[in-house]
Amino acid sequence: MSAPRRTERALGAVVGSAVGDALGAPFEFGPEGAFSARFPAPGSGGEMCGGGGWDPGEATDDTQMAVLVAESLLECGGLELPDVFRRFQRWAAAEPKDIGLQTEAVLGSGDPWDLAAALHFQCNQRAAGNGALMRAAPSAVYFAGLGRDATMDAARRLAALTHGDRAAWEGTAVLHELVRVALAGDDPLAAVAGALRAVHPGHRERYATVLAPDWHPDLATEFNGAVWPCLGSAVWALRTTDRYEDAVRAAIDLGGDTDTVAAVTGALAGAVHGITAVPARWTEALHVPLPGFGGRVLRVAELSELAARMADGPRDPRVTAPSVPRP
Ligand SMILES: [Mg+2]
Repeated sequence: MSAPRRTERALGAVVGSAVGDALGAPFEFGPEGAFSARFPAPGSGGEMCGGGGWDPGEATDDTQMAVLVAESLLECGGLELPDVFRRFQRWAAAEPKDIGLQTEAVLGSGDPWDLAAALHFQCNQRAAGNGALMRAAPSAVYFAGLGRDATMDAARRLAALTHGDRAAWEGTAVLHELVRVALAGDDPLAAVAGALRAVHPGHRERYATVLAPDWHPDLATEFNGAVWPCLGSAVWALRTTDRYEDAVRAAIDLGGDTDTVAAVTGALAGAVHGITAVPARWTEALHVPLPGFGGRVLRVAELSELAARMADGPRDPRVTAPSVPRP
């Protein structure tokens, strides 16, 4: 099989993340190995099973927020953080089936977009969840063409909208960079060292630990709803498998925050292996409801179109450096 083209990788990242999210959702907070116990043989079918309040193929908040970011980038022609924040607020107010604790508190605080996350972090000191990492696939595709520093910077700004802890920004920045490398046809695992050098020095060591070649999710010191083990687990799943399907299965089998770990894994594995590696039996059932946006539900065709438009990048690179969230 020939290497996937850049557009196939871009679609793989965005659709692959959504598929991982929908596939993992019914197993959230379940035990290790639950997916393989139910579906022992890869490729047998029926895995997009629904459950836990989710319909078969229904994507959760991870993909819903990712789509909100993507549509803001397209409609604004670049990164307009207040617009992204407004879309998040509109969505949160429509009572989505699931929403992260930090995200909900920040979006519902009534504080302005450039202060809400920081104020929440000041009061709570807990804001290193994986809730910014989980929605990064489209923005990672969108900013990839601008190079490492620009894509990592955009990732930090988008993460900072809901997460006041710099740890969440840095993890999201690393994911953006690894997807950028994969889209170019290079090996993201070989790019980890370079990405770590671009991480804020105060956060480098912790990411170096979870991204090390010998790290295993069993070594995690936090629940995988935190940003470090979530990213580490996704990179581990990519490193220890050869196919998209196997990577996502491995991610869900870790248990815990299965939809998000699989969404992050799916973004990476989709970018590496391309959209043709994402099983059609999984994309057929995929659908992304958008609460607060007129009852719209995106199917794989709409999501693929969005991904292809993301791959074109910003019309004008200058509009990607707007107002900065205050520290
Ligand atoms: Mg979710």
